[in-house]
Amino acid sequence: MARRKKIYEGKAKDLFEGPEPGTIVQYFKDDATAFNAEKRDVIEGKGVLNNMLSEYFMNGLTQIGVPNHFIRRLNMREQLVRACEIVPLEVIVRNFAAGSMAKRLGIEEGTALPRPIVEYCYKDDSLGDPLVSEEHIAAFGWASQQDMEDILSLALRVNDFLSGVMFGVGIKLVDFKIEIGRVFEGDYQRLIVADEISPDSCRLWDMETGQKLDKDVFRRDLGSLTDAYSEVARRLGVMPKGATPMKPTLIN
Ligand code: C5P
Repeated sequence: MARRKKIYEGKAKDLFEGPEPGTIVQYFKDDATAFNAEKRDVIEGKGVLNNMLSEYFMNGLTQIGVPNHFIRRLNMREQLVRACEIVPLEVIVRNFAAGSMAKRLGIEEGTALPRPIVEYCYKDDSLGDPLVSEEHIAAFGWASQQDMEDILSLALRVNDFLSGVMFGVGIKLVDFKIEIGRVFEGDYQRLIVADEISPDSCRLWDMETGQKLDKDVFRRDLGSLTDAYSEVARRLGVMPKGATPMKPTLIN
């Protein structure tokens, strides 16, 4: 079989050229990193779970008319997605105070926010993805005013959708991060949800017990990350109870 061309090597995912123009194969690895890759480990089965969960969320977004990059899942670790130009921003939506915002503003973790708060970070690992304002975004041309309106609308729609889906299985959506891609259709450009939506990029707390079911389990050494992600997948019916995520297979 011909070797595929790797076009990007990320911390948790690799990207390969897709079979048709305008497509990309997204491969989910088992690598876990936190604190700008200062803490790292390999968590067996994480890639499989994130691949399945991201498929589930992106398909749901498609069903409610929120444009996103997902085309189809190819196998346990790979999905075919639309190629897009990633806007260099991490778009964070928060419903409850936690993580960096709780620390920065001295608010107790878990405090309900008066309304969803949207934050933007400039995507640059060497700078540790610094928080930026819309002034920076406009001044440095990372996104136009129209883009920012579209990004806000996408972020809030994803928030409503994910909050509702999670509520349905007894999980509180504390916050999450999405990335946005630019696609060109003839003379027009459109913004779509890209990258992934998974417990790597969300904070998910059990509604009854407050148990963390997301990457904080790894960041804060709270137990088994695979167990936490499997629990989310099991509740959503994405992975049946007892199924064990497979080890990575050599695919190229
Ligand atoms: O660390 P912080 O509190 O700013 O994270 C907010 C949300 O964004 C969390 O759900 C976290 O998992 C996610 N995030 C992410 N990738 C980053 C930074 C934050 O997925 N580089």
